Amino acid sequence: MKIETIAVHGGNVVTDQLKPVIQPITLSTTFKHQEDSMLYTRLENPNRKSLEAVMSTLEGGADAAAFSSGNAAGNAVFQALPAGSHIIAPDDMYHGMKMLLQTVYAGKIEVDFIDLTQSEKVIQAIKSNTKLLWIETPSNPLLKISDIRSLASIGKENNLIIACDSTFATPIFQQALALGAHLVMHSSTKYISGHSDILGGILVSKEKNVFWESIKNVQKLAGAVPSPMDCYLLTRSIKTLPYRMRAHSANAKKIAVFLDGKQEVEKVFYPGLPSHKGFETARNQMSDFGAMLSFLIKGNADEADSLIGKLKYFSDATSLGGVESLIERRSKVQANDSSIPDQLIRMSVGIENCDDLIADLDQAFKATF
Ligand code: PLP
Repeated sequence: MKIETIAVHGGNVVTDQLKPVIQPITLSTTFKHQEDSMLYTRLENPNRKSLEAVMSTLEGGADAAAFSSGNAAGNAVFQALPAGSHIIAPDDMYHGMKMLLQTVYAGKIEVDFIDLTQSEKVIQAIKSNTKLLWIETPSNPLLKISDIRSLASIGKENNLIIACDSTFATPIFQQALALGAHLVMHSSTKYISGHSDILGGILVSKEKNVFWESIKNVQKLAGAVPSPMDCYLLTRSIKTLPYRMRAHSANAKKIAVFLDGKQEVEKVFYPGLPSHKGFETARNQMSDFGAMLSFLIKGNADEADSLIGKLKYFSDATSLGGVESLIERRSKVQANDSSIPDQLIRMSVGIENCDDLIADLDQAFKATF
C-alpha cells in the first residue's frame, strides 16, 4: 500500500455486526472476560489499537504506543532507561522536552545538549553510561537539520538507542526508522491531529525488543494514555494527513521565498531554501521540507510584536500543525533562552490560500516598517 492508502485504511478496523464503513468509538473502559477479549482500556482499547496500527504502518515500524501528549511519549523513553543513564540531546530542541529532562530528570539522568549537526561534537560527548541519542529534525524553533543516517551509524557503533522526534516532518515527509533510528516520536497534537483540538503523542519502534517492552510497560502501567475519543479523532485526521502536508508545505515554500526577499528580514530559517545550512541533508532524508519556519526581522521585539499584531489570518498563538496559520515571537514562550533572539518569529503555515497569506504578510510589513 502507498501512504495515501495506508492513511485511509490502515486504522479503520470494523468488527461491528452492523457493518458500518467507519470504525465505531469504543468508550467502554472494561470488557467482559472471555478468550481473546480486551481487558481494560488503560492496557488496550480498540481505537488506540487502530491509531497505533496506522502509525506503525506509516512509519514502517513493528509496533507503536500512543500517549496523552508528545511529552508523555518522550517521557516514556526516558523512564524506560536504566537509572544513571546519560543522554545526548540536541541543543535546539522543543523547549518543553528539554525542561522535562532538566527538571523532572535532574539527578536521575545526565544530559548533554549538543549541536547534532556537528558529528565530531556528538562523538566527543559519548560516555561509558551514554544510552540514548535523541534527535529532533527539523528542530524547534531554529529548523536545524540533523543527518539521521550518519547519527544512527555513530549511535550504532557505540551501542546507543537512537530516537528521533519527527513532529515537524511527519511520517509523510520523513521515515526515520528506514534512515536508521530505532524509535520515532511525534507530538500528535500537531500535524497528525491537524486541527489544533487534540493533545497526543506517539512512539513507533523498528523492533519489538526488550527496550520496547519497557516502554510499553511505562505506557500501560504509568497510564498516560489517550482517550478512545482522541484516538478515534486522530485516526480520522490521519486519513487526510498526506494531502494536508502537501498543502502546508507548498504554502510554506512560497512564504519562505517571500520573506527571504523582504529587505526588513534579516534571516529566514527554512530547510527548503537552498541557502539553508541543512538544505542538502533535508533533500536527502526528507521527501518535502514541511511547513514550519522561523525568521529574524531587522528590528527589535516591539517591531516584531507590531508586525504580528497587524496580521489578520495568522493567529498570535503557540503550537503548530493545524490547518490554520499561527505565528508567535518565540521568546514569549522560550523566555530566558539565550539561543532565541528577541526578534525571532516562528510561523506554522496553514492550508489557507497562499495568496491571501502573502497579501496579509505584505500589508503587515508595510504597516510596520
Ligand atoms: N516535540 C516537538 C518538536 C514539539 O514541537 C512539541 C510541542 O510543541 C512536543 C514534542 C511536545 O508535544 P506535546 O505538546 O503534545 O506534549
